[in-house]
Amino acid sequence: MKLIVVSNREPYKIEASRGRSKFEKTVGGLVSALEPVLREKGGIWVCWGRKGQKTPLEFKVTDSFLIKQIPLTSTDVYEYYYGYSNETLWPLSHMFLMRTRFNHNYWVGYRRVNRKFARGVMEIYQKGSKILVNDYHLALVPRLLRDMGVSDTIYFFWHIPFPPYFMLRFLPSRRELLEGILGADVIGFHTQHYADNFLECVREILGAFPDGDRVYWEGRRIRIRVVPIGIDVQRWKKFCADPKVKRYARNLKKNLSAEFVGIGVDRLDYTKGLEEKFRGIERFFEKYPSFRGKVSFLQIAAPTRTKLEDYMDIKRKTDEIVGMIEGRFGEPGWVPVYYYYKNYNDERLASLYRIADFALVTPIIDGLNLVAKEYVISKDNEEGVLILSEFAGVSVQFREKALIVNPFDEDEIAEAIYMALKMKPSEKKERLKALRQIVEEMDVKWWLSEFLKDISA
Ligand code: UDP
Repeated sequence: MKLIVVSNREPYKIEASRGRSKFEKTVGGLVSALEPVLREKGGIWVCWGRKGQKTPLEFKVTDSFLIKQIPLTSTDVYEYYYGYSNETLWPLSHMFLMRTRFNHNYWVGYRRVNRKFARGVMEIYQKGSKILVNDYHLALVPRLLRDMGVSDTIYFFWHIPFPPYFMLRFLPSRRELLEGILGADVIGFHTQHYADNFLECVREILGAFPDGDRVYWEGRRIRIRVVPIGIDVQRWKKFCADPKVKRYARNLKKNLSAEFVGIGVDRLDYTKGLEEKFRGIERFFEKYPSFRGKVSFLQIAAPTRTKLEDYMDIKRKTDEIVGMIEGRFGEPGWVPVYYYYKNYNDERLASLYRIADFALVTPIIDGLNLVAKEYVISKDNEEGVLILSEFAGVSVQFREKALIVNPFDEDEIAEAIYMALKMKPSEKKERLKALRQIVEEMDVKWWLSEFLKDISA
């Protein structure tokens, strides 16, 4: 059975020069999770492409893995991607009502582009395929595919938090959005909480009938599945066993001249709570002066959606608070915060995770958060502590063994850092072992097979 993955994000940036194409994996949770599966098992990935780009819109990554790009105009990108997806649905789903822009043209562009994607899928669709449509950018695609004649099972996964009814009701296009999603046969979420929000919305807004993990709508029965996405564990283990990765980690640790290292890896997005995290770090150095000169914190802030003012705003604020901490606590020979506004590849991230005594994963709200899982699996010397926001979806899986914090509480973050540094090695090992077991058991292959299980199962 052929797998067709549909997502906004392209799995690779492609550079064509002298007749050869160079692929570079793009940053983001979904790509990190699905790309290795398609490489191994084959299939077609339908994603965005730019009109007039130099590389072909259809090309093979391997003999059995094809990429098909949907050409988008600059107006499409502006209205559908920056507009409705990232200035309307993203902030609304993450409960940032005051950052949510309601603009009719954005909605018109979103509908137009969702239709382009659906038509693109129909061009390659063959009966007997499994279609996996991903995320909030393409919520209308399941219904469109059904209307265009797809008779196979359509799976749709919403990878970010699903807003509760009291948020979604502000959206003028809320009915069409929900009807679009209900075109799927199976709808997936990372947590039960998001699924419950969705069920509440379809009941209140559409008058549909939720019953346990099913929704009855227009004579159809739709399944809801709660399956938190995992990572490619074997791939991360391979990086960690690589002598190059180990050597880089050793040298880096030597050069940092700090006894303890903390790590943070986030896209620079206002939902990731970077400002709040740095307030917690500031509080830690304030409360525990004996750790000044001994702890350095490394923060990767990967640039994202840089064309949007809200993202430049959060960058300015983050730059400012990092500068403030450096100026206030830094001394010749010791840097409290190393802050990198750039993307790193997985091998480099594995080195950074490995040297970190603790990780601060403290989003204000996050669909799941793969970084927490990558950190846990990279620390194979079993002495790392994960400090985790209670509002990251992954906290449902990790709440027993991570140090759970409220990202708005700078004292709680400071205390968690202190606890992590003071924790006995035996406790660190015991906690990390339990976390690693969860990540290993619920890896990306598990996620895909659980989510794509037959509806009869
Ligand atoms: N990532 C990366 N390079 C970077 C920063 C992040 O490859 O410089 C990857 C990271 O390894 C993780 C993904 O981006 O796999 C981020 O996923 P997560 O679920 O944490 O958050 P999202 O960005 O999807 O909101």
